[in-house]
Amino acid sequence: MKEECGVFGIYNFEADSPAKSVYYGLFALQHRGQESAGIAVSDGKDIRCHKGMGLVNQVFDEKSLSGLKGNIAVGHVRYSTTGSSVIENAQPIVIDTKYGTIALVHNGNLVNSNVLRQELKDKGISFVGTTDSEVLASLIATSIKEKFEEAVTDTLKHCKGAYSIVIMTRDQLIAVRDPNGIRPLCIGKLDKAYVVSSETCALDILGARFVREVANGELVLIDRDGLRSQTWQLEEREALCVFEYVYFARPDSVLHGRNIYETRFHMGKYLAKEHPVEADMVMAVPESGIPAAMGYAAESKIPYEEGLIKNRYVGRTFIQPSQEIRDLGVRLKLNPIRDAVRGKKVIIIDDSIIRGTTSRQIVRLIREAGAREVHMRISSPPNINPCYYGIDTASKAELIAANLSVEGIRKYIETDSLGYLSLKHLVKAISLPGKSLCLACLNGEYPVRIPERLQSLKLFFN
Ligand code: AMP
Ligand code: SF4
Repeated sequence: MKEECGVFGIYNFEADSPAKSVYYGLFALQHRGQESAGIAVSDGKDIRCHKGMGLVNQVFDEKSLSGLKGNIAVGHVRYSTTGSSVIENAQPIVIDTKYGTIALVHNGNLVNSNVLRQELKDKGISFVGTTDSEVLASLIATSIKEKFEEAVTDTLKHCKGAYSIVIMTRDQLIAVRDPNGIRPLCIGKLDKAYVVSSETCALDILGARFVREVANGELVLIDRDGLRSQTWQLEEREALCVFEYVYFARPDSVLHGRNIYETRFHMGKYLAKEHPVEADMVMAVPESGIPAAMGYAAESKIPYEEGLIKNRYVGRTFIQPSQEIRDLGVRLKLNPIRDAVRGKKVIIIDDSIIRGTTSRQIVRLIREAGAREVHMRISSPPNINPCYYGIDTASKAELIAANLSVEGIRKYIETDSLGYLSLKHLVKAISLPGKSLCLACLNGEYPVRIPERLQSLKLFFN
């Protein structure tokens, strides 16, 4: 399972039709997943769900939205890289339980889901798809606890890994984060509604006021009496995914009081201090490299210019399954502005190098466009370990920095020079204590132990 997703939920205190609000929320979270989208709504008696493959505006239209009436709703956008791109894995997962029908949406990855799935299968439970989310929903459904809330926390005590989950019953909305808070989740308030979302940019689109983040190990329950909270798991340190800051979250979102754009701008500034080079222009790999490129330009006093234009209608190259399509993907997505780079010494800023495909292709494109020198700067440290917590980077065998030195990578991507931001300065740019971040793909310190079986899988296959 390789998923990184966006989750959204709304509890409206007045009978209203929240499906449209979820639709807008998911629209703002579209960058977190382009493979499938879904919304489930409760009217107090029944839960109705509509989901499908594709972008939010491909899955929903006026007709499908108008069929989703009620006052509570959850929504999901899903992203996965290989294999399991099927409707069975689209969310929300809706199942009947002794607590009534529930709808569940999940962002993250459980590291022990295979064990849990097998245990459930041994008890005679069958599965439609292959996601962790279905495992979570089935575990809740088979709990022996009397109250639904307890069934949820009891289930989570068996789950290891990363999860930000939103669950809806006919009359409640529950938002919960794993003990390390690896994936983000925040709460917002509208006039007559509470909203929960992976990122604050989805609150903004609705005009909702940011209230706070759901804490690591916290469960928040919203029903007609309002919002209440419990800490269901105290002991663990927080370990928010640093890649949310580096790449994944939208620049206009705020995570732990840090605006993503600002943190990326500072990454670029530190990068310029660490790896200066004489050049005529600084340019970005759009769009995730733009804030760091602006920071680099500000610090180095070298002008920022656009050198590559991105076709907005192509999804992220990373979601293409085969190497062949990935190679073509960069050209599909990016085209150089020849007049801007011709004859110049160019610094290109990107947020990360995973397999090296993107950088290699871009360096070639810029050289072919006539650049005299091409220098690559990366606003995060070398990515040397696989992620098991829901951001699919690659297996260790595919991670270029796990297999080559910086000089080896420089040669592979055919650039005149290459510089990575140091871990120290990455953490400084975010201005959160390093201890409260997950940095595992950069330094190997996994906050949740990874079962050996999974480790060997990620070593060789993807
Ligand atoms: P690669 O071509 O494999 O080296 O991929 C590097 C490119 O993928 C960079 O331009 C990044 O912006 C982007 N990237 C980094 N992490 C991810 C991720 N988890 N999902 C999708 N794209 C990513
Ligand atoms: Fe994020 Fe890397 Fe940790 Fe995965 S391993 S959660 S990508 S910081």
